[in-house]
Amino acid sequence: MQRAKGYDPEPMDLPPLFQSPSRPVAMLRWFVTRFLWPQSLTWIALAALVYHVFTPGLGRFASLGADDVGILWLRNTILMVIVIGGQHWWLHIRKAQGTQFKYEERWLAKNRKSFTFDNQTRDNMFWTLVSGGGIAALYEAIMFRLYATESIPQLDSVWAIAAMTLAVFWIEGLHFYLNHRLLHVDPIYGWAHALHHRNANTGPWTGISMHPLEHLLYLSLPFVFLVIPGSPFIATFCLVYLMISPSPSHSGFDRFKIGQDRDFHGGDHFHNLHHRYFEVNYGMLLLPFDKWFGTFHDGSQEAHEEMKDRKRHEADL
Ligand SMILES: [Zn+2]
Ligand SMILES: [Zn+2]
Repeated sequence: MQRAKGYDPEPMDLPPLFQSPSRPVAMLRWFVTRFLWPQSLTWIALAALVYHVFTPGLGRFASLGADDVGILWLRNTILMVIVIGGQHWWLHIRKAQGTQFKYEERWLAKNRKSFTFDNQTRDNMFWTLVSGGGIAALYEAIMFRLYATESIPQLDSVWAIAAMTLAVFWIEGLHFYLNHRLLHVDPIYGWAHALHHRNANTGPWTGISMHPLEHLLYLSLPFVFLVIPGSPFIATFCLVYLMISPSPSHSGFDRFKIGQDRDFHGGDHFHNLHHRYFEVNYGMLLLPFDKWFGTFHDGSQEAHEEMKDRKRHEADL
């Protein structure tokens, strides 16, 4: 469906486990064919490449110095310029698929005072690379130091590491919901999260274009492994996942075209509705806290009316 202002996908269903009645077998299929394939598996493969080929050995981090953080920062910058910049170039500069599957007809803002450097893309790149890449490097280096000095519990079997890697998606479902809800509370919203919400119309660089205070919270996922057994790879995976996965989800395009009539899952309709309407869809579809706490918007007209009723009711109080 192509609406006047852009592409409007079909309304979303909850994952089968959370529908009523619950369908656990269908959930397994959904998790593998819809959630893992292709994007989430790509993040695991990318993290394995980054960890095994482009990250210094753990020994280096036993005595942590600024240069160790610097190396990870440089690695993060190169990774993001290639993966996020590549999507930006393909979709927003080369405009390879025009506005097909694009949520908004309009393109990213130039000459707008609300953005740093008066330019949405430069603003988004700056916050992503300087603050996002820097804080991610610092957190990863801290985790590496703790593993190098054997100060935190560590998994030793490949199977346990693989299972925990899959569990990270669920842990992040809770972690993201909690920190994102907190960021919408005044005055924290104004101090920090408003910077991400400058972007109602989003692009790949918008994904982790956040205030440093938000990065400190959002990127803190690996610290759950201070208490739960994890591994150095899982620490890298958490941060690669947090840095890179928001780029297709904020790309502005619901699907990415390859060739004339093939396309695959790109953007995140669920989170796109959060950028449009703010007070809905704080979490992720995988673990639908929004459904359980009454802030779910599935993209349908009925959900829209419900949201407007809720807002009217809150305004009356
Ligand atoms: Zn966002
Ligand atoms: Zn938000």
